[in-house]
Amino acid sequence: MSRRRQIYEGKAKILYEGPEPGTIIQYFKDDATAFNAEKKGTINGKGVINNRISEHIFTLLGHIGIPSHFIRRLNMREQLVKQVEIVPIEVIVRNVAAGSLSKRLGIEEGTPLPHTLLEYCYKDDALGDPLVAEEHIACFGWASQEEMQDISAMAIRINDFMAGMFAGIGIKLIDFKLEFGRVFEGDFSRIILADEISPDGCRLWDIETNEKLDKDRFRRDLGGEAEAYQEVARRLGLFPEGVSEVLDLNSERKKRGK
Ligand code: UDP
Repeated sequence: MSRRRQIYEGKAKILYEGPEPGTIIQYFKDDATAFNAEKKGTINGKGVINNRISEHIFTLLGHIGIPSHFIRRLNMREQLVKQVEIVPIEVIVRNVAAGSLSKRLGIEEGTPLPHTLLEYCYKDDALGDPLVAEEHIACFGWASQEEMQDISAMAIRINDFMAGMFAGIGIKLIDFKLEFGRVFEGDFSRIILADEISPDGCRLWDIETNEKLDKDRFRRDLGGEAEAYQEVARRLGLFPEGVSEVLDLNSERKKRGK
C-alpha cells in the first residue's frame, strides 16, 4: 500500500493508482479550502466523515439506478472507484437561492426557487470555475449534447432522491455540486456520477432552525464545522458506534504512531 503511485492531489482528496487497471483509490483529507483556495484550513475528521457519507449516498443512488464510479469503501479514509475521464464541468443543482446565485442575481439567501435550477461551471481553477451556458459546453466540445442530456437527467433524479433523503432527517437540501465522468466500453463511452457527495459540496440547513450544517461554516468563519459534519453523519445513521468515538480513537492511534 505504501508504494502505490499518487496520480493527483486535489484540495480535499488524493488519488492513487488502484489495485487493478481502471481503478483508482480516493483518499479523503481533512484539508478544507474555500474561495478558489484563497482560504485554507483543516476540519478535524472531515475526511473520515466525507468518505462514509459519500459511500452511503452513492450506494443508495446505485439502488435507484444511478451509475457511479463508486466500487467500495476500503477503510476510514479511502474508497476504491472506477477510473473515469472527468467531464470538465461542475454541475450545480439548486433548490433554494444561496451563495453565488444570491450574490450574482441579488436574490436573498433562503428564497425557495420555483423549480430546480441546474447551472454549469467550467472546471478550471486558474479561471475560478466560471459559470458557462450549455452553448459554451457544446461550442468548446467539453461534453456532447447527448452527454449533457444524460447529465441533466441524472442530476435531477439525484436531487429528487437526496432532497427526500435529507428532508427525512430534518435537513433542507439547498444546493449541491456534482461531477460526472466517462467510462469507455469498446468504441462507446457512457456517463457515470463521479467525485464525491458530502457536506463539502452541499448546502445543508436544519429544517427547523436554518442552522448551516455544511462547509459554509468554514467559508464564513461560523465555527463548529467539525460538529456540523458529524451531525449530518449522525442523522444519516452512520457511525452507529458514535462519530466522535471513531474520530477520537483515530487521533489516539495517530498519537501512538500506529
Ligand atoms: N460547490 C462546490 N465546489 C465548487 C463550487 C461550488 O462544491 O467549486 C458547491 C457549494 O458547496 C454549494 C453549491 O456548489 O453547495 C453552489 O455553490 P455556489 O455556486 O453558490 O458557490 P459558492 O457560494 O460556494 O462560491
